[in-house]
Amino acid sequence: MSLRYNTSAEIKEAWEVVSATYRTGKTRPFPFRREQLRQLYKLINENQDAFNVAMDKDLKRNKHDTYVYEILTSLNDIADQVANIEKWGETEVIASGTFGGERVEIQYEPLGVALDIVPWNYPVFLAISTFAGIIGAGNCCILKPSELSPYTSQLFADLFPKYLDQSCYRVINGAVPETTQLLEYPFNQITYTGSTPVGKIIQSAAAKHLTPVLLELGGKSPVYVAPDADIKITALRIAVTKFFNNGQTCVTPDYILVHKKVAAAFIAELKAVVEKNYGPDPKKSADYGRVISKNHHRRIMKLLERDAAAELTFVTGGPKTADEEDRYIPPTVVTGFRTDKDYALMEGELFAPVLPVIEIGSQEEAHKFINDRPHPLAAYVFSTSAAVIAKFQKETHSGSMAANDCHITVTAPDAPFGGVGPSGMGAYHHKYGFDQFSHKKTVVIKKTSRDPLDGIRTPPGDYERTKR
Ligand code: NAD
Repeated sequence: MSLRYNTSAEIKEAWEVVSATYRTGKTRPFPFRREQLRQLYKLINENQDAFNVAMDKDLKRNKHDTYVYEILTSLNDIADQVANIEKWGETEVIASGTFGGERVEIQYEPLGVALDIVPWNYPVFLAISTFAGIIGAGNCCILKPSELSPYTSQLFADLFPKYLDQSCYRVINGAVPETTQLLEYPFNQITYTGSTPVGKIIQSAAAKHLTPVLLELGGKSPVYVAPDADIKITALRIAVTKFFNNGQTCVTPDYILVHKKVAAAFIAELKAVVEKNYGPDPKKSADYGRVISKNHHRRIMKLLERDAAAELTFVTGGPKTADEEDRYIPPTVVTGFRTDKDYALMEGELFAPVLPVIEIGSQEEAHKFINDRPHPLAAYVFSTSAAVIAKFQKETHSGSMAANDCHITVTAPDAPFGGVGPSGMGAYHHKYGFDQFSHKKTVVIKKTSRDPLDGIRTPPGDYERTKR
């Protein structure tokens, strides 16, 4: 499938049209924002079948998973915006002034024209959850979907003009040159969801115009399995969250630090769950996806090959049955790591159906292992002890954290979602998105009657009279 890339002239025209529209104030009134959000809701809801087909082609996703992780989540986020933006955007009167009867307000204003660059791994949810927040806050926006999910990205390009006001919201498709052209324009806000290295490119480009950025990046999200963990539920929840979407989830468990007392039991249970979930040949499982591209397939295979000399054990999967043509890598659990050695699999974010399991001697050792590495997007602990969980919460640093499950920080109701340090900056979802995409303007309104400030500011300055 060839995705139609926009031409340079089309990109320029899109920028000119949406920025001219923004200056007219068209997107500011709440009824307009709500109407466009309702249109966005319809765009997703009325085209569920088409999105299903597109994501099956892009990621080999089954209908159930697309519905739960892309359609429902997107519809919920849009509905949340429709229901709440007027409340979130209400001007707050915070005080009467110090010197006289002035009123101090905080007024929420849109930032202006936003650029929303989204990845391919949840090509609908990650586009819609950011885009809905941007519309909700009253901005114009250009959405740049990923060229690596061409079916879904083309569908966005086809559907946008049918549902949304094209003078305010556009889709631009393309790869690096098209994104680079977009980044030359002085957007008022840029949201980027993707890898940390590209995040740096985006922030540098934004800096030229002093454009504020929301960076939703990645990282190696660790899991600590404590000796008192419930092994059955731990193995189940780690297996389903790791291998869903072929490990291509920003908050997927990247590697496991399991306490040596329970390592054997945990690894045996993990193997049993993986085999039960995906059967003897995961390639044939309707619930097992694919790596997004042959390039990514080669990247993952290289990591596995580079570690081939290390004495690692493939408890499940491994490189032998991988198939580049089909973009298939089996669910792979790897053990036998030493904490004092370097491994290719432990260098960067895996973003793959490959799960290193590392035995560790204590919770303190696990915390040190985690804190010695760049701050991840999420961190997880599995334990039945409140004290172990509290210690993990206090002593490790990450964008978000969960106990006894993975992934769920993304969908935690009404909570901010975002990274810290190399895993991102800023946060969104619910009111946090509205705040992120708005400017909080302080407004002070005075009366015209004389007040004490007039006296204090009028020369001559009289220290003795003014001091308290
Ligand atoms: P990516 O950074 O390769 O690409 C994302 C977007 O950036 C695409 O639209 C692409 O066209 C554009 N792009 C790529 N290279 C560029 C360049 N040199 N200049 C300008 N634009 C460029 O990311 P990806 O591989 O598609 O996504 C995977 C990464 O995204 C993982 O690291 C994952 O953890 C992260 N991610 C983070 C979140 C989050 O919410 N924090 C969500 C999903 C994915």
